[in-house]
Amino acid sequence: MSLYLVKNGEVFSPAYLGRRDILLGGHKVLAIAEPGSLLLRGLAVTEIDAAEMKVVPGFVDSLVHVTGGGGEGGFTSRTPEMQLSEAIIGGTTTLVGVLGTDSITRTLANLLAKARALDEEGLTCLCHTGSYQVPVKTLTGSIQEDILLVKEFIGVGEVAIADHRSSQPTVQELARIAAEARVGGMLSGKAGIVSVHVGDGSGKLDLLEAVAESTDIPISQFYPTHINRSRALLEAGKDFTRRGGVIDLTTSTTSQILELGEVAASEALAELLAEGVDPMMMTMSSDGNASLPSFNARGELVELKVGRPASLHASFAEAVNKYHADFTSVLTTITSAPAKLLKLPNKGRLHPGADADLVLLEKDGLAVNSVISKGRLMMYDRQVVVKGVFEL
Ligand code: ZN
Repeated sequence: MSLYLVKNGEVFSPAYLGRRDILLGGHKVLAIAEPGSLLLRGLAVTEIDAAEMKVVPGFVDSLVHVTGGGGEGGFTSRTPEMQLSEAIIGGTTTLVGVLGTDSITRTLANLLAKARALDEEGLTCLCHTGSYQVPVKTLTGSIQEDILLVKEFIGVGEVAIADHRSSQPTVQELARIAAEARVGGMLSGKAGIVSVHVGDGSGKLDLLEAVAESTDIPISQFYPTHINRSRALLEAGKDFTRRGGVIDLTTSTTSQILELGEVAASEALAELLAEGVDPMMMTMSSDGNASLPSFNARGELVELKVGRPASLHASFAEAVNKYHADFTSVLTTITSAPAKLLKLPNKGRLHPGADADLVLLEKDGLAVNSVISKGRLMMYDRQVVVKGVFEL
């Protein structure tokens, strides 16, 4: 068992704890204490000097197309699988894999295999059962069974609404999916949430509100993403948080998409925080390895790029550095807020007993300097030290 002592850093749990030493061992945070106060004589401990660093929990990315996504421009536009270092360089240590628009050539069995591979390589990778289209794809034949019986499945999604690529689900169909996920989650002690891809359709979040109003499913069962897609959707998202739902902002983007009216996640987050939205009601996710298609007014594909997992860290840093949002609040939206929503009590927070997932950020500029995931040093002094099997 490797023991690490991360010394004298400014520690954010994400709440500010002051200067602390953090002892890690056996994949866990063992102790957080005043600098120099831990007595470790006789133990083989690797020390990491964090005096010039902010020490924060490993980032939790709630939406990554780990097996690749896309395909909206034909077979050559299918995006590649995510590699281990793509997450590590952005400080992400926990992620949730999902299928995308294509759930025919991309399968849940493949998603599960990739999640297990990333887990073996050193990350924590969970996933959602289901698909964009309704009726959703499952591994066992039922959403409830998938969540109850397969360890990695913690919810369902991303199910697409308000999008020309969705299967135009009805209120009843969405309610049924949410009910299955809810009970599967209850019986397995998992989140059982429904991750909802929201497109640029005029319906925005109406379907989710209609389910909450016409059934016994609470609005908090839904976790809509891409809420910064437009000003109008951002407004609807604000309303959604007031009704008790958590919204997700997407950090992967392109200049063309921003020109078409998307609000950068960093800017949107800073705005929402300034308007008093509780940071626990908002998260950011990368939509990593998604295709980033731009469609013209006729619905024709005009540009296709690929999302990056490290855009999560870039947007976090930009919200603080460029938009002057509160550091702890922004950090909350990529650590403790998604961990709570996804019901991962050992993730997204630093406390004794939590998983040893840590990021050391350089004080000036907030660049990722070092990353520890499940007690293993993955990146040190800006160099990735553990690479994926096929990255060597
Ligand atoms: Zn999506």
